Amino acid sequence: MKQWAMYIGGQWAQALSSATYETINPADGKAVGIAPYGGRADAERAVAAAAAAFPAWSKRPVKERAELLHRIAARMGEASEELAELITLEMGKPLAEARGEVKIAIEYLKWNAEEAVRAYGQVIPSSVANKRLMTIRQPVGPIGAITPWNFPLSMAARKLGPALATGCTVVFKPALQTPGAALKFAELAEQEGLPAGVLNVVTGDPEEIGGELLSNPAIRKITFTGSTAVGKKLLRGAADQVKKMSMELGGHAPFIVFEDADLDEAVKGAMASKFRNAGQTCICANRIYVQESIAEAFSDKLKTAVERLVVGHGRDPQTDLGPVIDERALEKAQRHVEDAVEKGARVLTGGRRKAGEPGFFFEPTLLAGTTPDMLVMQEETFGPVAPIATFRTEEEAIAMANDTPYGLAAYFYTRDLSRMFRVHEALEYGIVGCNDAVPTTVQGPFGGVKESGIGREGGPDSAADYLETKFVSIHID
Ligand code: NAD
Repeated sequence: MKQWAMYIGGQWAQALSSATYETINPADGKAVGIAPYGGRADAERAVAAAAAAFPAWSKRPVKERAELLHRIAARMGEASEELAELITLEMGKPLAEARGEVKIAIEYLKWNAEEAVRAYGQVIPSSVANKRLMTIRQPVGPIGAITPWNFPLSMAARKLGPALATGCTVVFKPALQTPGAALKFAELAEQEGLPAGVLNVVTGDPEEIGGELLSNPAIRKITFTGSTAVGKKLLRGAADQVKKMSMELGGHAPFIVFEDADLDEAVKGAMASKFRNAGQTCICANRIYVQESIAEAFSDKLKTAVERLVVGHGRDPQTDLGPVIDERALEKAQRHVEDAVEKGARVLTGGRRKAGEPGFFFEPTLLAGTTPDMLVMQEETFGPVAPIATFRTEEEAIAMANDTPYGLAAYFYTRDLSRMFRVHEALEYGIVGCNDAVPTTVQGPFGGVKESGIGREGGPDSAADYLETKFVSIHID
């Protein structure tokens, strides 16, 4: 059992109330750690520490901040196996995927360290002789960062990278299920000399900690990754102080297979997109639309691939598919399958909790004959359930794909170049994978439209959300 402490103002601390909670390994339902259950007062201390650290940190030359981030990234590289094991232990993904997550987290730190040194301002030609006009870019201020459990380290790095590199200080609230990766990150950062108060990690009561981040005027921006429901709550709460908000929210990705696609590639893509992280990614394929003429061939191939998946503990090197996060996630997957079957879908394979397992394992599941009225076609399942529906024409596929309040990621497979342009331009999504099921990279902007979010993380504009542009007009004689 790992005993965790929060990190506030450079000190390792328990909650002021002394409250704690247990973290659970979803592969067997057993406790693996004890973490502080912090509340409002702890968050208030963390905000005070972040505010106190801001003046010095923001004035430090960006090159020094960037070099420090590079050193932390290198230390994460040395600790990568420990970090990966922690991720697998707390949220269940196969160790190989956890190692991949650590790698991309390191890349996010390095990318943002490289980008922040180029936060250029502008000199603007004036229309009058006695004025000089320019812009400078300054860090927003102390920020609150809130992340989900499904990528506990890479989501942290995607926020901490640009925040720390641009000169912001941070109060960071990881998900209840996965405090370990963020606290281990803080430990590595401290060892590399990150000054006290620049990064504070508070674990515990989401509403109390979130409430303090919203109401405390010292916090100038909140960056959130999580569900659309919680994102909306935070947006409402931020209105009173007009805080800057970045929102990476839920998705309901369509995965379209046209009749001219390379079927084997499309099957490979659907498997990677749907079953990675046991279907618990915000960009995972949620609705598979297959053109009628190839529907049977595609479904047969996909069924064969799904039935080959090895379900098991993330630590077992044979495992392709780990558990889902908890009992509620199992229930949701089950509800989606039952609702679909009641409304006329057929289970091609899977369809229930894996028998005889104390952990939260759901069988990799394929549904055929799904229709738009089914829950599985309307909500994120966040589990290993792949529903297949058919379409006749390109227009119909695009209309079905866009018929959702979400707009994070969409995928389609085709070998027709003109179609490739027509379709990606028509899809109302922030991220589109054309013959590419893994369109996530630090070099590309990640984020959604519609109810999937506001802002982008990674890519060339990664630092923009953490900087304010100040316009300076100088009158000269
Ligand atoms: P969640 O919204 O339940 O929780 C996310 C975070 O918000 C957690 O840290 C949680 O403790 C915190 N939280 C919950 N209620 C809060 C409140 N009232 N005030 C402040 N904080 C609060 O989501 P989850 O179940 O942890 O993660 C799954 C969701 O995240 C899915 O919807 C998924 O699509 C989304 N997600 C989005 C992205 C993206 O980049 N767009 C990435 C990963 C996950």
